[in-house]
Amino acid sequence: MTEQTLSIIKPDAVERNLENDIKNFFEKNNLKIIKTKKVKISKEESSDFYKVHQTKPFYIDLCNYLSSGPIVVMILEGENAVKKNRQLMGATDPKKAEEGTLRKMYGLSIDKNSIHGSDSIENAKIEINFFFK
Ligand code: UDP
Ligand code: MG
Repeated sequence: MTEQTLSIIKPDAVERNLENDIKNFFEKNNLKIIKTKKVKISKEESSDFYKVHQTKPFYIDLCNYLSSGPIVVMILEGENAVKKNRQLMGATDPKKAEEGTLRKMYGLSIDKNSIHGSDSIENAKIEINFFFK
């Protein structure tokens, strides 16, 4: 089934000029970028975006981090896009990510792991609406 999902190139990857490499990687793997923009969000916006994690010990650092510099947000579209994107991203911790995944290739650490991707069709809709309403 054709789906849409939200992807974010996080500040560590934007800073290292990985935007084009990451976009080409998605396109080569049959995820089409149908909308994209570079933005810098506020602490309030990042806290809202990541509110599902508000009870986690890493929440404050995570929100500070996502609002620390420019990010690139994208709507990806393709067959099983949500799951496909998660597979292409790899595990949250780059040290545990499989060979050939974005986080294995570019992630620096569990917090600076270069990329975000929606984890369900339902959350994809919410996250797409967050950035592209
Ligand atoms: N994160 C962190 N420390 C942890 C777990 C997660 O800093 O111990 C950060 C990491 O940047 C991750 C984000 O919080 O991408 C959201 O966590 P989640 O468990 O949803 O991982 P993801 O869905 O991004 O793989
Ligand atoms: Mg997640």
